[in-house]
Amino acid sequence: MALIVQKYGGTSVNGPERVKNVARRVVNTRRAGNEVVVIVSAPGDMTDDLIAMAHEISPNPPAREMDMLLATGEQTSIALLAMAIHELGEPVISLTGPQVGILTDNVHTKARILEVSCDRLHRELAEGKIVIVAGFQGMTCDNEITTLGRGGSDTTAVAVAAALKADVCQIYTDVDGVYTADPRVVPAARKLPVISYDEMLELASLGAQVLQPRSVEFGKLNHVVLEVRSSFNDNEGTLVKEVTEMEKKMVVSGVAGDRNVARIALHDVPDRPGIAKALFVALARESINVDMIVQSAMRDGINDIAFTVGRDDLRKAVEVTERVRAEIGASKVTYNDKVAKVSIVGAGMITNPGVAAEMFACLAEEGINIHMISTSEIKVSCIIDEEYLTRAMQSLHSRFGLEKE
Ligand code: ADP
Ligand code: ASP
Ligand code: MG
Repeated sequence: MALIVQKYGGTSVNGPERVKNVARRVVNTRRAGNEVVVIVSAPGDMTDDLIAMAHEISPNPPAREMDMLLATGEQTSIALLAMAIHELGEPVISLTGPQVGILTDNVHTKARILEVSCDRLHRELAEGKIVIVAGFQGMTCDNEITTLGRGGSDTTAVAVAAALKADVCQIYTDVDGVYTADPRVVPAARKLPVISYDEMLELASLGAQVLQPRSVEFGKLNHVVLEVRSSFNDNEGTLVKEVTEMEKKMVVSGVAGDRNVARIALHDVPDRPGIAKALFVALARESINVDMIVQSAMRDGINDIAFTVGRDDLRKAVEVTERVRAEIGASKVTYNDKVAKVSIVGAGMITNPGVAAEMFACLAEEGINIHMISTSEIKVSCIIDEEYLTRAMQSLHSRFGLEKE
């Protein structure tokens, strides 16, 4: 008997008909002779709606209360799915993250899973039940409810699969696999039969929301093979796993775009040791993730430092930067939240020089100005004006020959 972990995303459980559809799929898996643990997300846009509701009450809600609110989305789905499975006549139980024993750190709204306790899961499975677990939520060692950051149900699924040493971790969503680019933005995108953890991690971190980056990290660390599939059909999906050199055929395997980017610049910074430390330590203390950082060439003992953050963090990041500006005697802080990041990803880049140059040439031919650049062994990212993101993704996708055959 195999142990299968399945995760169904928000679109897949949006409304009674879709919940019943998921219930049928889960029951079929169980009746085929498998043990099944199912992770579910909040229905449809419920998490967005709850966030909007909170902001109608307070511009800056306490993070603890935000988690208390957001966790209700997933709790709605687990109960409804358990009811639908019960209707089909299979023994089933729904459990919240805290009931399972998903232990996290105490960074509210961005918590990281520290441990998944398996006792309750094993007990319920041993009684022959299908177990439905709320994604995206956990509990600190002080019994406080936490959430894992947007898209966090993917990470719950992989963490549970790793803890249970499941045979498969299937991520069911509204696309039938991982594509060379978001198929909604680049209609010519092609489904990848397989992708390496490293490339998937880059794509996910660079804006391909199909998997939460942390879930891919967890998968890699614990050798959990992920299967991304559609909950609406039975098409072959995409395997995310360790890939051999032989299988790395393409120089570039994907293009990603991210609109959740804002650029902040600190102008006329004195050129002396400790300035970058003062700024980035202050930002880190507020749990603000900084992505790209560029320090301009010095002129007359003065620099500019520019960096990017997620748009949710913009307000707080500007406040912190303004405080540091006053302390160090820089001239001003400016910001722009109408920028976006376009990236190309591919393990083959390491051995193929000139890929970055090709990307810059493509953007230049489209008349798209590049504000910032960052590279790693397997990716190149550019910050551009947000209005050009779709065009940039489509032209890069075609430039690197990623279209459907
Ligand atoms: P779920 O609610 O199931 O977690 P998400 O909306 O989080 O689903 O993720 C699925 C979406 O990810 C797709 O609808 C698609 O638009 C988007 N996406 C972005 N990049 C990619 C990609 N490279 N391949 C497939 N889907 C992608
Ligand atoms: N419901 C959460 C979100 O919308 C978690 C998830 O869907 O994975 O981000
Ligand atoms: Mg998701």
